[in-house]
Amino acid sequence: MIQSLAPYAVQVEHSRGRRYPEPQHPYRNDFQRDRDRVIHSRAFRRLEAKTQVFTGRYSDHFRNRLTHTLEVAQISRTIAAQLGLNVDLVETLALVHDIGHPPFGHSGEKALDIAMRRHGLSFDHNLHALRIVEDFEQRYAAFRGLNLTFEVREGIIKHSRDYDAADFPELAEYCLDKRPPLEAQLIDATDELAYNTADLDDGYEAHLLGLEQIIENVPVFARFFAEVEKLYPAAPKKLQFNEVLRRILDRWVGDLIHNTQSQIDIAFNNKDDKCSPGRPRPGNSAESHTVDACRPEITLADIRAHPKRLVGLSPQVEAERAETKEFLYRNLYYSAALDPEKDDAERVVSQLFDLWMKRPEKLPSSYQEKAKTESEPRARVVCDYIAGMTDTYIYEQYEKYCGP
Ligand code: MG
Repeated sequence: MIQSLAPYAVQVEHSRGRRYPEPQHPYRNDFQRDRDRVIHSRAFRRLEAKTQVFTGRYSDHFRNRLTHTLEVAQISRTIAAQLGLNVDLVETLALVHDIGHPPFGHSGEKALDIAMRRHGLSFDHNLHALRIVEDFEQRYAAFRGLNLTFEVREGIIKHSRDYDAADFPELAEYCLDKRPPLEAQLIDATDELAYNTADLDDGYEAHLLGLEQIIENVPVFARFFAEVEKLYPAAPKKLQFNEVLRRILDRWVGDLIHNTQSQIDIAFNNKDDKCSPGRPRPGNSAESHTVDACRPEITLADIRAHPKRLVGLSPQVEAERAETKEFLYRNLYYSAALDPEKDDAERVVSQLFDLWMKRPEKLPSSYQEKAKTESEPRARVVCDYIAGMTDTYIYEQYEKYCGP
C-alpha cells in the first residue's frame, strides 16, 4: 500500500542526499536502504549485548538495548503512519537511536563522561552515534562509514536534544538553529513511552517493584488495574498486569497521535494563503477520517522554522507519564538493588580508561594507529574503543588487564 504522506512529511525524493553520491537502487528507496544499512551494521548487532536497565544477572528475557530499540521502532511506525509521516525514515531513526550507547546502560555513559571530563572532553551518545555511522562502520570499498542520507544523520543528532551552534561548530551542516522534522521529533517521545512501560514490566518481573507499590504510586496504573480486575477477576496477577500495561501504552500512544496533530493544526492555523486537498485525520472513527476540503498547506520548512517541537503528549497525559517516570527513578533506577551494576560500570570503565591512557600500546593496533596520528586526542580514541564494547567484551578486557 502506498502511504498517504502529510504535506509536511519528509519526502524521500527531496532528500538532501548522501555525502558520496550513489546510484539509485532499483526497488528500495534511500531511507529503506539506510534502514537496511543500520540493521546490517556491527554497532547494531552489538546492541544485543548491551544493558538497557537490567543485566543478564536478572533474566535472559528482560529488555536489552536491541529489544528496546525494536520496541521503539514498532511504536514509532504505528504513530508515524497515523500522522502521515515518512514511516521508512521513522523506522531508520528508531533503529539507530541508541546505537551510540556504551556498555552498562546509563551508568556506563556516566562513567565514560566522567573519565573524559578529567581530560577536558566529554561523551555524548548522539555525537558518538554520528561517529559510528560516519566513520567507524567499514563495509564499503568506496568510502568510510555507512554513507547515510542527510535526514538520517540529522535525526541522529537532533532527535532528543538541541545543540548550540556556537558550542558545536562541527555540526553546522545540520542546521542547529532549526527544529528537526517531525519524523525525528517523534523518536524521543516514543522512546520515553516505550521504556516507561517496559521498565514497569521488567521491574515487576524482577520483584524489584511490587504490585501494591505500583498501584499506590502510579495513578494511571491504579485506574486501569481497577478496570482489568473487574473484567478478568480470575486471571493470574501477571496477566492482569499485562492487560494494564497494554492499556497504558495504548492510551499514551493514542494521546501522542491526537495531541501532535492538534499542536500542528494550532501552530499553523493562521497559514491560510493556499489550500491543499488534505488527508485523512488520525484515528479509526468515520468522523475522525473526515478529509478537510480546504486546509492550509503546511510544509516541512514550516515545521523546521517553528520555534518549538510539535510532537508531544497533552498536558494531562504528560503529567501521568512524568509521574510514572519519577516513580521508576525513585524505586528502580536509583534503587539499592541495582547498585552492584552501577559500581561495576564505574569501576570497569574508569580503570580500563586509565589503563589505556597510560599504556596505549595495549590498545588494538588500529586504535594505536589512531592514537599516534594525533588528529584526535588520545582520550577520544580510548573513549571510542570503550563506547563500542558490549557488556560481555568489556568484562573480558577487565579480567585480562585489571583482574587478580
Ligand atoms: Mg532509547
